[in-house]
Order: sequence, then C-alpha cells, then structure tokens
Amino acid sequence: MKPSLFTILLVLALPGTLAAQSAEEPVVNLYSARHYQTDEALYANFTKQTGIRINRIEAGDEQLIERLRSEGQNSPADVLLIVDAARLAQAARLGLFQPVKSKLLDERVPAAMRDPDGEWFGFSSRARILVYNKANVKPSEVASYASLADPANRDRVCTRSGSHPYNLSLIAAQISHVGEAKAESWAKGVVANLARKPQGGDTDQIKAVAAGECGVAISNTYYYARLLRSTNPDDQAIVAKTGIVWPDQGGAGTHVNISGGGVLKSAPHRTNAIRFLEYLASDQAQVDFADGNNEWPAVKGVSVKNPALEAMGSFKSDRLPIATLGRNTAAAQKIVDRVGWR
Ligand code: FE
Repeated sequence: MKPSLFTILLVLALPGTLAAQSAEEPVVNLYSARHYQTDEALYANFTKQTGIRINRIEAGDEQLIERLRSEGQNSPADVLLIVDAARLAQAARLGLFQPVKSKLLDERVPAAMRDPDGEWFGFSSRARILVYNKANVKPSEVASYASLADPANRDRVCTRSGSHPYNLSLIAAQISHVGEAKAESWAKGVVANLARKPQGGDTDQIKAVAAGECGVAISNTYYYARLLRSTNPDDQAIVAKTGIVWPDQGGAGTHVNISGGGVLKSAPHRTNAIRFLEYLASDQAQVDFADGNNEWPAVKGVSVKNPALEAMGSFKSDRLPIATLGRNTAAAQKIVDRVGWR
C-alpha cells in the first residue's frame, strides 16, 4: 500500500512538533513590582547561568494584577513578582497562578513562607515595626501592636489606610491571634487614637513622627532602613529624631510579611519560569533579591551584610504562616470598613 501524502506529511511534521513541545524558547516574561537597581545584576546572572533571557515589565502591584486580569489566557507573562501576603492571596484568589511542584523550592523556601499548593513562594521578608518620636514617646509606651489602641496613646498614632495590603495583613495576623471580635476592637482603638486621617505611605508616617505631628507610626522595616542608609541630611535628621520598636517581643513576636511570586496560569514558558523561581532561591540571588530592598533572605542560612538592618538589631518574629494571613485578609478588610480605618 502506498502511503498517502497525509501520512508522509504527518511523519515529517511529527519530530518537529515534539521538539517544539519539549524545548521552550529561551525566554522568561516577568511582570515585577520590584524596581531596584540591584535587580539588574540579579537578572543578568540568571541569563548568564542559563542562557534564558528575561523580558521584564515593571509596574505597581495593583497595575500588574489588573493587567493580568485583562490579558487573561492571552497574557505573555510567565512569572509575577509582588509584595505582601494580602496581594499574593488576591492574585491566587483571582486564579492567576498555577501550582508548581519543585523539590528545590520546597527545600529552600521555609514552609511558612510559601503557599501549601505551590502557587506562590516568598523570596524575602520584611517586618512591620513601630517608629516613635524620641522627644515625647517612651518605647515602653509603644511596646506592642495592642499599645496602638491603648487610650494612653490618644491622638498619637499615624498610619496609612487600613485597606492597604500591609495593614490588612497586620490585621489578619491579629485575627489569627485573638479572633475577629478582639481584632475589631483593637482596630477601633487604633482609629480612636489617630493623630490625623490616614494618608500617604509608610515613609510619610515616619516623616510625620519626626515632625512631631504624631508620636508613633506603623512602618515596614525597609522604609526605615532606607532612611538609615541615606546620606541626605533631611533623612538623617528624621533618623535622629526617631527610634524603632520591635512590637510584641513579649508575645507572639513582630509581624512579618514577604515579597514573592509564582508561575502564572497561562505561562507560555513554564519550564523556564520554574527555573527562574529556583534561581531566586539560590544563595547569591537570595542576597541580591533581599538586599536590594533592605529585606531579609527567605532561605535559611543565607545572610546579608546590610549595615542598616544590622543597626536595627535582631528580633523575635511572629511564626504565623504567610498563607494564614492571606486567608484572613477578606475578614480584615471588613473590619477596616466597619471601624472606618481609611
Ligand atoms: Fe512597600
């Protein structure tokens, strides 16, 4: 029997098709909310090690999530890097990520810093601290998150909106520790103690503390570290007027959060994307990734030489799994709405 033209074409086409399926174009399309100079070296080293190029789009966390939603299945993006448990949970809820099974990632990234289903992984951590005015507040008066709701601190507290992911995650942690009802009375107490209407970001709160507009503010560690490392005299003056407290050292420990990411559901280069995440968990990449924003590496045993972080000292951190925070952020948002923390 003579083979039909169709069979001949099929046989000719088959090896090519298989090859196309197994070997991806050497590219990773990255959507990143990070925008640090040091990231250039981070990405260049990956390309040097693997031959895989990185196409990068940088934008704010919210914008990237919006963009992915509108692009849907046609998105060219392979990896999304964003910050905070609340946002990672939001991206996961929207179905943007796909689960990744990687022995290397499971071994290197501590279980508390990744999604149990492998949808996202933390690559660095930051803590939520209190910054106080040294002239009129004693650190013992603001030793805990609970103290922010203490009537003794009336008209002293400054924070950004309670709806911001950083605060949603903090409230989510409170929900895990004391339950929803007590977390709500706490949030209500914080609002009652506000020195001014929530506005601006964490750095604006630190500035308001230095200016004496507020006695104490909530801030992520890297914002304070940035001021500590700054050579700008205005920043140095802010540092001189303020001190920091690691809250809840006598209790659950200071609230920590992560910066991290995952492989997108529609990733055209899935294998490369996983390789990129595995690279981010390597020793050198961990140092670059964390230090670029004055954060701590996620991988145990990796340490950064960061003078600002060293100056801030060591602390006991809250052991709550990051995934737990993500599960409580919806309840946290409801509390924010009810107590008017906005
Ligand atoms: Fe931030």
